[in-house]
Amino acid sequence: MQPGSSGLHLFSRLAGGTMAKDFLKDTRDHYDVIVIGSGLAGLTSANILARAGHSVLLLEHHYQLGGMATWFKRAGGHIFDISLHGFPIGMIKSCRKYWTQEIADSIVQLKGIRFENPQFSLTTTFNREDFTKLLIEKFNVPAETVQKFFDTARAMNHFDAESKTTRQLFEEFFPGRSDVIRLLMEPITYANGSTLEDPAVSYGIVFSNFMSKGVFTFEGGTDKLVNQMKDELEKNGVDLRIRSLVEKIEVDEQHRVTGVVVNGKRIGCRCVVSNSNIKSTILQLVGEQHFDPAFVEEAKAVRLNNSSCQVYIALKPGVGFDYCGDLLFHSEHKGFDIEAMLSKKVSSRTFSFYYPSTRPGCDRYVVVSSTNANFRDWADLPEAEYEAAKKELCETTLDCLDQYVPGIRDKVEHYEASTPRTFEHYTRHWNGAAFGTKWEGLKVSKELPQQIAGLFHAGSVGIIMSGWLGAVNYGVIVSNDVDKFLTPAATA
Ligand SMILES: Cc1cc2nc3c(=O)[nH]c(=O)nc-3n(C[C@H](O)[C@H](O)[C@H](O)COP(=O)(O)OP(=O)(O)OC[C@H]3O[C@@H](n4cnc5c(N)ncnc54)[C@H](O)[C@@H]3O)c2cc1C
Repeated sequence: MQPGSSGLHLFSRLAGGTMAKDFLKDTRDHYDVIVIGSGLAGLTSANILARAGHSVLLLEHHYQLGGMATWFKRAGGHIFDISLHGFPIGMIKSCRKYWTQEIADSIVQLKGIRFENPQFSLTTTFNREDFTKLLIEKFNVPAETVQKFFDTARAMNHFDAESKTTRQLFEEFFPGRSDVIRLLMEPITYANGSTLEDPAVSYGIVFSNFMSKGVFTFEGGTDKLVNQMKDELEKNGVDLRIRSLVEKIEVDEQHRVTGVVVNGKRIGCRCVVSNSNIKSTILQLVGEQHFDPAFVEEAKAVRLNNSSCQVYIALKPGVGFDYCGDLLFHSEHKGFDIEAMLSKKVSSRTFSFYYPSTRPGCDRYVVVSSTNANFRDWADLPEAEYEAAKKELCETTLDCLDQYVPGIRDKVEHYEASTPRTFEHYTRHWNGAAFGTKWEGLKVSKELPQQIAGLFHAGSVGIIMSGWLGAVNYGVIVSNDVDKFLTPAATA
């Protein structure tokens, strides 16, 4: 069932006599918790808090739940996943514990991770064992160095001092080896937007999460996952509302959350979990006048992460291609170069190949090409230039794909592109930020409740809390804090 088709919504009459749905019909006046946004962090927080017995209202501005973990359909039976490219094995445990066994059971491994660039061509299972072998045998790195690097990366944790950058970490272990750095870094840059200048800990944690067992996906597609989550939320009593845009988080003079204004309606609550971007939560939804000036300055200084472009390519029904890997990191650039990866003049793409096994029972082959992108390159293009740039992105992507799927232009039935503007439109993240904020966003997010009682934030921040696993796990951490806030006696 599609989100929003549960018959929850009735029609109300507008002044002009037209009918509009009241998406907030029959909401209560007051809830224990209001969750703003249905990204994986918001959904997970809502589920845990409802399971703990709190009354929960979840408000999502889009017509569909999931945030970036979403999908769309096109005529002809085509379904495109936006961010289902790969996540670490940790999702199995998190889904089993905080969602259902059924959800965890659909998580399966992707075994063909491919790199094609001027420096090397290889296929790997993207885990420690295979990477160790590759680094020693193909890249001629001494075995002790490889082992020490993996151990160092794995030993890093959230509490590590931010003393070293990822660039310094690589220089320490692999000086002058741009090919090794490319192998180790390129997939992580695609996964969370991190760069060589970010703290090494943000690389070490995410890289080690993947290296533990490789790359995983959700069999059945994002639609199946999010609809299973929706069923679970409803079973646990969460009041779910789509097309509900929160305009304001209300705070009283004692610096306590008292409610929200959504679609023009006020609804009271004891606390808010905002899954909206941390900067818009503080500077827009609450308003800087409610915070310490020093905290506001810190929030303003938080850097947003980069955005993305994608090209969605669906083949004609029943038409396919030979297996050519699951994830393919393609680059024409001679070395690893972040600016080149973000450039509108695309020279690097990640292809996700979706075979019929992605959605068992279906005969469709789909390819999604993703590139990291700067919002500023797309934001202010006049409409005609914007459309032309999207067309060029589609055409150059098809040209590039032809080397992996020969004759792609004859096989394709539908293709289209999204840009940073698309991501901003659907998620309301400033600058269409695909992976939340840089490292410093985590501190601001965590300190929010010290500024305003009952105000919490869960969602992609600080690189390590990004991606599907990071977002789910941050939702868990924050919901535990919310539970303590709501039931202090239980924790005494
Ligand atoms: C192109 C792309 C590819 C990606 N690929 C992967 C991948 O392969 N693996 C991986 O692990 N991660 C991937 N990611 C990242 C991952 O999708 C995100 O980090 C994660 O889904 C973010 O979850 P979140 O909880 O932070 O919230 P988001 O998904 O950002 O959702 C926030 C929600 O809040 C809602 N909202 C915001 N403001 C309001 C408001 N005022 N009122 C009501 N609702 C509001 C938005 O509409 C949105 O639904 C990808 C991201 C992109 C863009």
